[in-house]
Amino acid sequence: MSLLIGNGQVVSIRYKLTDDNGTVVDSTEGNEPLVYLHGSDSIIPGLENALEGKAVGDTLEVTVAPNEAYGELIPELVQSVDRSVFPGIKDIEVGMTFEADNDDGSVEHVVIKEVEGNKIVVDANHPLAGLSLTFEVEVVDVRKATKEEIAHGHAH
Ligand SMILES: [Zn+2]
Repeated sequence: MSLLIGNGQVVSIRYKLTDDNGTVVDSTEGNEPLVYLHGSDSIIPGLENALEGKAVGDTLEVTVAPNEAYGELIPELVQSVDRSVFPGIKDIEVGMTFEADNDDGSVEHVVIKEVEGNKIVVDANHPLAGLSLTFEVEVVDVRKATKEEIAHGHAH
């Protein structure tokens, strides 16, 4: 009997992720499958819910709205800052990305949206925020998580 995907299982999937325009934004093609602990919020909720009850060899296609994926675009995360917050960087161009360390130790990724003299408009939204995403998924492995994996809350 094959194991059905549920909480406390380690699941391996291959997937292809496309946005509203059909552009491939992420894929496991040419890489190892993605391995995650089901029920641990390791992957986006819309995808995790769709995988519930599936088994090895199953394929599925699921379109996930922004609120079940990387969230809606938050206008407040688009901010105009002074060029001086990028010390030592001479040529700041639209499309460049930077990492900013937050006080709580998390890392925020910002992308340059506009450059006007000393005013730089940065966007700290997740690159996939605001997008409906379509996953084509194949389940390649399902196994029981070890005690250690459950305790850690992630797959090893
Ligand atoms: Zn661990």
